[in-house]
Amino acid sequence: MSILVVGSIALDTVETPFGKAADALGGSATYFSVAASHFTDVKLVGVVGTDFPQEHVKLLKKHNIDTAGLEKQEGKTFRWSGVYEVDMNNRRTLSTDLNVFETFSPKIPKEYLGIQNVFLANIDPSLQYEVLMQVSKKGRPKFVALDTMNLWIQNKKNELIKVLKKVDVLLINESEAKEFAGELNLVKAAKKILALGPKGVVIKKGEYGALYYSKSTMFSASAYPLESVCDPTGAGDSFAGGFVGYIAKSGSLSDKNIRQAVTYGTVMGSFCCQGFSLSKLSKISRADIQKRFQEVKKFTNI
Ligand code: AMP
Repeated sequence: MSILVVGSIALDTVETPFGKAADALGGSATYFSVAASHFTDVKLVGVVGTDFPQEHVKLLKKHNIDTAGLEKQEGKTFRWSGVYEVDMNNRRTLSTDLNVFETFSPKIPKEYLGIQNVFLANIDPSLQYEVLMQVSKKGRPKFVALDTMNLWIQNKKNELIKVLKKVDVLLINESEAKEFAGELNLVKAAKKILALGPKGVVIKKGEYGALYYSKSTMFSASAYPLESVCDPTGAGDSFAGGFVGYIAKSGSLSDKNIRQAVTYGTVMGSFCCQGFSLSKLSKISRADIQKRFQEVKKFTNI
């Protein structure tokens, strides 16, 4: 079953100890879409400016991503820039230029209403809420997942809490989960988040893997150990692409499926880290994904 994703589409300037990429294709919805496209059909809703290179649209189309909801507005595309330290777990945002995002009001194409799987990628939680209200006009989707970041936790906490009441799974990284819950212990943080409404929470721990919590279960997934990480930008969104992509494809939220989905998430996150922008993620095949999934299964088997 297909997935609708709404989020940022960006031109990123990123510096890591391995090099630099300027104005490269990025954005939360972009990474998600390409990662999820390896599992199922993706419909992308977002905005770009008139400076957005056509070759990027081509790349999305090459992955069968439906771009009917990709708006082009007069002005510049959203831009983000960041720098990684030698320990690439630490990233500093240098600039965030909202540009056409400042006035973006997502319009969901009519033919997408009634869609069963929705991913609210990292954008302003008020926009995430608005999108969810629009897509729910013909009935609530079967599965809704949401990602967020420290910017919204700090500046739009109430709006975030409001939309969280309506989602099935929150994906959040470790430091953000602690900050959001006001809790240094991850188990307590997960419980506090679950009390706000979502049925499950995935806590992403970068190179240390991910944890999944629900009221009835807990699962710890290992990350795929990479010998060299080139650029971790978008790893969280690619994780979400693998996670939601697998759930949408399999159509079940059973405990076993959730465990597999979290593992596919770590697999897609690892591919993303192997190249700048979408260079690696856009070149892999389903066979590469399956091979890495089996490797993770094998080395975590106790
Ligand atoms: P991740 O590394 O998974 O946290 O995702 C990085 C991506 O998020 C980059 O490609 C950025 O363009 C995008 N991004 C950064 N800040 C924001 C923001 N405030 N809103 C939406 N997307 C953002």
